[in-house]
Amino acid sequence: MAREFEGKSVLVTGSASGIGAAIALQLAEEGASVVVADHDSRGAQRIVKKIHDAGGEAKAFKVDVTHPSEVHAAVTFTIEAYGALHCAVNNAGISGPNKPTTDYTVKEWQRVIDTNLNSVFYGLKYQIPAIIEAGGGSIVNMSSILGSNGFANAPAYVTTKHALVGMTKSSALEYAAQGVRINAVGPGFIETPLLTRKTDAETMEHLSSLHPIGRLGRAEEVAALACFLLSDRASFITGSYHLVDGGYSAQ
Ligand code: NAP
Repeated sequence: MAREFEGKSVLVTGSASGIGAAIALQLAEEGASVVVADHDSRGAQRIVKKIHDAGGEAKAFKVDVTHPSEVHAAVTFTIEAYGALHCAVNNAGISGPNKPTTDYTVKEWQRVIDTNLNSVFYGLKYQIPAIIEAGGGSIVNMSSILGSNGFANAPAYVTTKHALVGMTKSSALEYAAQGVRINAVGPGFIETPLLTRKTDAETMEHLSSLHPIGRLGRAEEVAALACFLLSDRASFITGSYHLVDGGYSAQ
């Protein structure tokens, strides 16, 4: 594999599990120094060990992305550990309860908005100046196919993933001339703990059937797109929303 990220440091939130972990592992394989940031510090340490065992470089950082000061601290930690921040992936997220809009409590609604949406604003707020200071780089915000489609009984999740697309486009316009590319990724349903831990076999079967390719996606397939967008091979790509969804959105 090409060592495209040699000399680059990358901060990935929500990288103790699922898609974020796959991104951290792929980036490290391609030569990046990776900060594995998650509120699950044991899980983050496990991913760091995997990276070290494969000969890569990574450090774990405990962060709750709903707290702006902790998101800021993650950026500072990356710069202190590796000298600069070149790229970031705002990936941490939760699905929230599965029920219709009027059944949501205000507290449940706010938790999803804080975790999936406000966190990304905090990320951009502190990552962009650091990336400009490093001479430019790239950010990926993890949206979803539900960033462009509705889905019943996930109102807060769908709202946050749509909003992330708008946030991505606006910030990309603001910082394009300063060498910061910002894109959103929209995965279909991906087989990770976020999906599997509260989905029964019948629902999994149904979700698989929604993808013309005939199966759920794998975290590594999302990581491949995210790593491409972070790399210099994507040097003319900014402000856009990229699907990796087995054909879900083409129907
Ligand atoms: P995952 O396996 O649950 O991984 C998400 C990670 O983020 C977990 O380690 C989780 O910890 C962590 N996290 C949650 N809240 C956090 C917080 N406040 N601060 C720091 N870390 C936090 O889920 P995934 O499927 O890989 O999802 C990653 C991203 O992809 C999410 O933004 C999700 O919306 C998006 N996505 C997923 C799918 C899918 O089908 N899986 C599809 C489209 C988009 P806990 O395990 O403790 O919650």
